[in-house]
Amino acid sequence: MRNIVLFGPPGAGKGTQSALLVDHFGFVHLSTGDIFRSNIKGETELGKLAKSYLDQGKLVPDDVTISMLEDSVNAHPEAKGFIFDGFPRTTAQAEALDAFLEGKGLGIQGMLALEVPEAELKVRLAKRAETSGRVDDADAGVIQKRIDVYNAETAPVAEHYRGQGKYQGVEGLGSIEDIFVRLRTAIDGLA
Ligand code: ADP
Repeated sequence: MRNIVLFGPPGAGKGTQSALLVDHFGFVHLSTGDIFRSNIKGETELGKLAKSYLDQGKLVPDDVTISMLEDSVNAHPEAKGFIFDGFPRTTAQAEALDAFLEGKGLGIQGMLALEVPEAELKVRLAKRAETSGRVDDADAGVIQKRIDVYNAETAPVAEHYRGQGKYQGVEGLGSIEDIFVRLRTAIDGLA
């Protein structure tokens, strides 16, 4: 079983590449952003709680996010592996994920980090706003907030995995296919 953290700032292409990786490797894709959005759409209790955080570009509190993620993993006992997309986003989430997986005799094999310059992220998010219907893509202030939160709270998660020798940076510029080949090659190289 290979479990991968697909990492990178908002707009780096994690969702696009996850879909290709799922097709190729048969992983289960767990995107915390997608799970929150589907709960908001379904007007569940979790969705009601998460909505104001998402709309403002803030992180949903760790305790809520961690238990939601654990439930999602537990819902897929048949999985050949997971791609974690948008999680862990804080060091506390990373520590919780390690402990949770270890309790199952599992672990993270690698963090693949898509590297994209900030100016390009803003162009991509503004473009995505035209079609995504996402409130948090439609407002330059919210986009900036997400990038600031990423730099302050999420970027340090890379150090967590670097310390375990699991971090690999991946060039996130180029065609979707080129980037997919880079990620595929990196995953093929993981034990
Ligand atoms: P992005 O395109 O910014 O990477 P996502 O779809 O991954 O966005 O997440 C959208 C929003 O969902 C985040 O801005 C945040 O409010 C919430 N969210 C997603 N994942 C997490 C997480 N691991 N911890 C806390 N909040 C999260």
